[in-house]
Amino acid sequence: ETYADKVQRNQAYKKLDEGDLAYFQSILEPNQIISNNEDDLAFYNEDWMRKYRGQSKLLLKPKTTEQVSEILKYCNSNKLAVVPQGGNTGLVGGSIPVFDEIILSLSSLNKIRSFDNVSGIFKCDAGVILETADQYLAEQGYIFPLDLGAKGSCHVGGVVATNAGGLRLIRYGSLHGTVLGLEVVLADGTIVNSLDSLRKDNTGYDLKQLFIGSEGSLGVITGVSILCPARPQAVNVAVLAVDSYESVQKVFNDARKELSEILSAFEFMDETSQILVSKYLKLDHPIESDSYPFYILIETSGSNKEHDDEKLETFLGNAMENGIVLDGIIAQDETQLRSLWNWRENIPEASQMQGGVYKYDVSIPLKDLYGLVEAANEKLEAAGLVDFEDISKPVVKAVGYGHIGDGNLHLNVAVRKYSKEVEKVLEPFVYEWIQSKKGSISAEHGLGFQKKNYIQYSKSPVEIALIKDIKHHYDPNGILNPYKYV
Ligand code: FAD
Repeated sequence: ETYADKVQRNQAYKKLDEGDLAYFQSILEPNQIISNNEDDLAFYNEDWMRKYRGQSKLLLKPKTTEQVSEILKYCNSNKLAVVPQGGNTGLVGGSIPVFDEIILSLSSLNKIRSFDNVSGIFKCDAGVILETADQYLAEQGYIFPLDLGAKGSCHVGGVVATNAGGLRLIRYGSLHGTVLGLEVVLADGTIVNSLDSLRKDNTGYDLKQLFIGSEGSLGVITGVSILCPARPQAVNVAVLAVDSYESVQKVFNDARKELSEILSAFEFMDETSQILVSKYLKLDHPIESDSYPFYILIETSGSNKEHDDEKLETFLGNAMENGIVLDGIIAQDETQLRSLWNWRENIPEASQMQGGVYKYDVSIPLKDLYGLVEAANEKLEAAGLVDFEDISKPVVKAVGYGHIGDGNLHLNVAVRKYSKEVEKVLEPFVYEWIQSKKGSISAEHGLGFQKKNYIQYSKSPVEIALIKDIKHHYDPNGILNPYKYV
């Protein structure tokens, strides 16, 4: 997608010159700089969906917080725009440049700082990969309190910057609760060190909260302190089939009551999402006998396998006996457990394999949640743009899945190519529909570039004015992640 018709380069930002490059070469090693090499910069200039592409000519990889500070101080004094980048797995076009912003990659700031195995408090650099953090914690008998499909690439700092929700929010809560402290470098280079290990600290404003979910617009997160729970001893996963969205809700309600303290994930997936994953993985669905309109993935995590097995089996037995659940499978070992999760975690990749995907990550009151997928398909059909088989149509289908436990739907419109025609049918229609149900246009992916012009569907003018005031206060020259967020 080109940006030209959506936004103009702000000429107040300086264009990079030889003098700037010489400065960065004076403070960083050669292997911490990529400049002017289009091929080497390609990955960092393009987003995960291959939907947005910037034209940065310079990528910097600081190894220390002090280097981040020196870089930002220089950029702020010289009005050089900067885009902080983690694992570049964000899904709203926030992590890549729009024009020629300098990419500040946190990937070399990647050390684990400390772990306290009594309190469960883990501290690390922002650039530690989420899966690396979780594997380290697993060795100590602990778990990172957040998990998501991009864990092999996304950074701890990146998930904090986006306030990612993920697959276990239902169990461990949001990062606003588990993050205890942050180290952040402000736009002018000031280092704010509040890497606290305290669970309670009511002295003044809780400043770290502002940076959680600020998407690189207020400061660069360089360190994170987070409270981690003990790793569950017994984990079970089941995939169930039901015949309607009403049944998905009914099973959720029952699961909360009957599995209560051991329920750690409750995800739903519609039929088309599973057909796409089946094509992508080249595998038959684990519930082979037939195709069902909806599937549910339930995970339990507890401390006593016998107790948990019995609870889950009784729950499923009851649900099948009373006819709500039509079919189901419980993982018998770790390999099967992983493979059942694959049917949920591969939906993002599977939905874009035909060419691309328009992604809407939204919160909607539960009873209306799936209505958005139906409404989107109706709208696309009325415009004659959708057909699952016919490759002359730009849209394959709109699919729905997500974190039912959090009221969070992922609407993925799988397309054969990105086109203005499709985008015009979807936007602002999708946002208006969400607003009419009093939902949020961004549940967990953030605003980035994609949703910045639609913030008013979820925030009032007074709130938007306050957000702009805060941005101006922390970044008066607007050098941090411009053209996005607000
Ligand atoms: P990036 O993509 O590099 O950056 C994201 C934003 O944060 C950008 O605006 C960037 O400027 C900023 N940023 C990054 N690092 C820093 C930093 N250190 N300091 C300041 N700003 C920074 N999200 C969910 O919430 N739940 C999910 O279940 C989920 N599943 C996903 C599954 C897949 C397969 C993929 C590809 C993505 C998924 N996401 C999900 C999207 C999610 O936002 C990202 O995966 C993750 O949170 C971003 O981390 P990152 O390190 O890749 O950040």
